[in-house]
Amino acid sequence: MSSEQVGATAAERRQALTEVLAQARSCVRCAELAATRKTVVFGAGNADADLMFIGEAPGASEDEQGLPFVGRAGQLLNTLLEEIGLSRSEVFIANTLMCRPPGNRDPQPLELDNCHEYLLRKVELIQPNIICSLGNFSTKLLRGDPTGITRLHGQPEVIVLGARAVRLYPIYHPAAALYTPRMLDTLREDFQRLPELLALGPPDQPSPERVPEPEPAAEPEAGAEQAAHAGAEADQLGLF
Ligand code: URA
Repeated sequence: MSSEQVGATAAERRQALTEVLAQARSCVRCAELAATRKTVVFGAGNADADLMFIGEAPGASEDEQGLPFVGRAGQLLNTLLEEIGLSRSEVFIANTLMCRPPGNRDPQPLELDNCHEYLLRKVELIQPNIICSLGNFSTKLLRGDPTGITRLHGQPEVIVLGARAVRLYPIYHPAAALYTPRMLDTLREDFQRLPELLALGPPDQPSPERVPEPEPAAEPEAGAEQAAHAGAEADQLGLF
């Protein structure tokens, strides 16, 4: 994202997001994931959301439906959102990886690296004020530090992702809370603080001249890009 795009309108940013979506849909940066996935789970929700959630990676249901957090963990996420007066359509939900790792194995460092540029573009274009990292994977990735979620949950901190400064708010992953009642209590308590954090608005933003230009994303093959673009045009409204 160039520094002028930082001041782009919501409609321009949304349009740019659909272009990133079209590119992502034909991404083959991770050969194994590209060969085994059913869909690329780009993320879904409000393209101009103040609040964004970043989980780990799609599971079987997400891979099937092309949407993040549609299984039991997703149902818990919906409930926790409702409890604070929000719905999925008001937030944006994404993952550190857009493709399902076979057998739900852990994402590998190279895969996280390959997908990171897409994640940064989403953050830059959606311009959230708060990012909730769900669980260890996304918390460690976004902070660039191995400190775990047990120590960090519920403690907001300002970090810069690409061109955007956000309040990172690490919380437990809903999938982990499904099986541990005490973790669910803590997740719920952390969730209850979200309205007060949202009321703070955006943190101070980096000055535009200090925003580095990103590396251009590798272009997919022309035919593939056209096909992906047509698909994206057809159903992008369902995603964001
Ligand atoms: N767990 C995740 O981290 N992401 C999903 O989309 C679903 C489950």
